[in-house]
Amino acid sequence: MLNYWDQLHHVLTFRFPCYNARSRRSWDKKMKATFDILAFDADDTLWHNESRYQQAKDEFVRLLSAYKPAEHVANFLDEVELANLSLYGYGMKSFTLSMIEAALSLSEGKISATEINSILDLTRRILTAEVELFPSVAETIAALAEQYQLMLITKGDASEQEQKINRSGIGHYFHAIEIVHDKTVHTYQRILAKYHLRPHGFVMVGNSLRSDILPVVQLGGIAIYIPHELTWAHEMDHQGHLTDGMYYQLDQFDQLPHFLSQLQESMTFTQPPTSPH
Ligand SMILES: [Mg+2]
Repeated sequence: MLNYWDQLHHVLTFRFPCYNARSRRSWDKKMKATFDILAFDADDTLWHNESRYQQAKDEFVRLLSAYKPAEHVANFLDEVELANLSLYGYGMKSFTLSMIEAALSLSEGKISATEINSILDLTRRILTAEVELFPSVAETIAALAEQYQLMLITKGDASEQEQKINRSGIGHYFHAIEIVHDKTVHTYQRILAKYHLRPHGFVMVGNSLRSDILPVVQLGGIAIYIPHELTWAHEMDHQGHLTDGMYYQLDQFDQLPHFLSQLQESMTFTQPPTSPH
């Protein structure tokens, strides 16, 4: 069954050949402005991030294996990192403080200045590395920016995230960029209020159930989960319950445009009909 606008499109196409696909597209854009904004997480949604931490952890374990067994070093670093999150926040600089703290403890104070310098070198190398976008992200974001207003919501150290955004080459597609300390229901409430967004018009795309999906679902927003194989275990650990149907899941980033247009179509269709009379 066609909705009113589809029926009108068919009539116009039949009677007026000059009413072409381009007209339909611009018409669609005006008539189907269902979403207020499309918001994206950045790390491990648009570009590689966890792999950089994994690389740092591997090098740290190699360095400290002179003092303790590798498995113990890896587990201890994870514990120190999690214990420090509330104090230092997210990001490579915070992670470096945790590596130094873990190194001092694991070596029982015997870690050398040269070895500490190796940890700092490791951080410098990672902070200045190229930002590596996931496949099809650049083209997909460019295409989506033609149809929707885009927002970036990322958590972590402000200067570190800003540098990554600048180096990514896609920062200019986003109408707004929010670098936040954490992503809780309160964080999203604040962002919705700041930009005058309706929860049901807010779409959040991300790889973290804890940070990108659960709080948005709780607020009545639309959450699209695109899992990444290297998502940090901390981001998979969430305290709420997610059941089928409360959020959407896609396998690949380039499925977004088609999925969103279908979702928008269904949402438009289920809205109360506007009488043509
Ligand atoms: Mg992420």
